Amino acid sequence: MEASTPVQQREDKLTVGKWFWNIWKGISTAVKGMSITFKYVYGVKPVTIEYPEVREELPANSRHRLYNDVQNCISCYQCATACPVDCIYITAERREKDAPAIKTDGGTAIKLDLHQYTIDTALCCYCGLCTVVCPTECLTHTTDYEFASYTLDQMKYDYMTPELKQWRDRIVK
Ligand code: SF4
Ligand code: SF4
Repeated sequence: MEASTPVQQREDKLTVGKWFWNIWKGISTAVKGMSITFKYVYGVKPVTIEYPEVREELPANSRHRLYNDVQNCISCYQCATACPVDCIYITAERREKDAPAIKTDGGTAIKLDLHQYTIDTALCCYCGLCTVVCPTECLTHTTDYEFASYTLDQMKYDYMTPELKQWRDRIVK
């Protein structure tokens, strides 16, 4: 067997050195990667919640399901006119001349009898324009975002029904 030359010996040393270098690089890279993983697993406050067991407290000015306190609605149609998707349906008629005067809680005279106030929330885009123009501020957004339905018809809310008032009393503390 021929004795290796100095050049071959140097090349062998370099190969062994590179082998150890590659092992070191592999281990250090894995440790670095895992340290980032562990940092996010154990060191960072979670940004998700265990819904529905845990519910997010929404800001009071969130724009979610609409509520109309129809007792204070003067049937002015401003909300329906402002609505960009025409999803507010109002039916009202002028009150009899000799009918007793009635007012909203804020003192605005109610001159029309409201017969229907319906919002099709399947069409609503929650822009808030209807609430902004409401002169008596009876139309407001609530913080309720849990009103998924099986049919589109169930997304039409008739605010003249007592169920809507009960729903509002339940969610607005
Ligand atoms: S929030 Fe916007 S889209 Fe929805 S009913 Fe009001 S005006 Fe219409
Ligand atoms: S703008 Fe307000 S007061 Fe006028 S019809 Fe709409 S909800 Fe009623």
